[in-house]
Amino acid sequence: MSSKIFSNDWKWQIANRIASRAQLEEYINLTAGERAAFEGEIPLSFAVTPHYAGLIRKSEALRKTVIPTAAENRVGTGELADPLGEENHRATPHLIHTYPDKVLFLATTFCSTYCRYCTRSRMVGKPLAFDVSTFDETFRYIEEHTEIRDVLISGGDPLTMTDSVLEELLSRVRNIPHVRMVRIGSKVPVVLPQRITDELCSVLRKHRVWLSLHFIHADELSPETQSACRKLSDHGIGMVSQTVLLKGVNDDTPSLVNLFYGLLEINVKPYYLLQCDPVQGSEHFRTTVEKGIQLIQSLHGHICGLAVPQYVIDAPGGGGKVPILGKEQIRREGDDVVFLNYLGKEYRYPDPL
Ligand code: SF4
Repeated sequence: MSSKIFSNDWKWQIANRIASRAQLEEYINLTAGERAAFEGEIPLSFAVTPHYAGLIRKSEALRKTVIPTAAENRVGTGELADPLGEENHRATPHLIHTYPDKVLFLATTFCSTYCRYCTRSRMVGKPLAFDVSTFDETFRYIEEHTEIRDVLISGGDPLTMTDSVLEELLSRVRNIPHVRMVRIGSKVPVVLPQRITDELCSVLRKHRVWLSLHFIHADELSPETQSACRKLSDHGIGMVSQTVLLKGVNDDTPSLVNLFYGLLEINVKPYYLLQCDPVQGSEHFRTTVEKGIQLIQSLHGHICGLAVPQYVIDAPGGGGKVPILGKEQIRREGDDVVFLNYLGKEYRYPDPL
């Protein structure tokens, strides 16, 4: 176990990321299966901040989400490297344009901690150097497409970028008159809460940014994360949370209730409960859609409405997010669940029983 001096400086947390089996074993005892997974080639990027390693030491649920296992080498039925078909909608090297009025701005491939079920595991952690000078084509595209009202900056995790890079990026987006909404997708308040400084909050407040945060379990609500979210809230930053439904991690009603109430207590609105995308190597994480419906129905009416997110399937291939309220919205065809998206077009989610 580690006897290292632990620093609350976010740059120290990144510089001292755990990125190998030997480093991880300084923090926790690995099982034989986990140790064996490190021996072969690990298909997904691996890194954990010392802060999050401290949490996984105490939480079986969290350790499953960041420590490699042999199961991620198996490619299940219908699983794809790019399950949402983002590459088919790539408008510029940094921009995915799937919905009519919304774009996804991929600002970085770096995350301080990598999730084993990441939809963008094909690119996160890969050595693609982005800097603001290469964003010009993307800004031009947004300027020319006046139908774009909503820019979601994601990656990777944009809040791992420096204040000055974020300031420049956000200024350029905000200077486009038809853009009305700017969001940043991030797990930083969870895995790197030290990053939430007053200076960063000032940048986010100045540009009226909404944060779309990624929480999966109440065990992530550490004192540091709670004070990071309270600080963001005190600076007037709107926050919502997206929770991926994960087998053996949060696929039971008490875990979800605990998480969603915990989020409301720190001014984060539970927004989406996402059916896990069929990314390669995710079968051990994916519940059936029927299970997702059963869970969301166990919340509606039973707990405060504000604590209930929308249960959605992100339609594989790029059909967008589809809210699922009940079984009448889906039908089963063999190993697929079939449903309609917001345009009435049919999509399939691979869901072997
Ligand atoms: S923080 Fe988000 S982008 Fe990064 S690995 Fe996790 S899910 Fe993927």
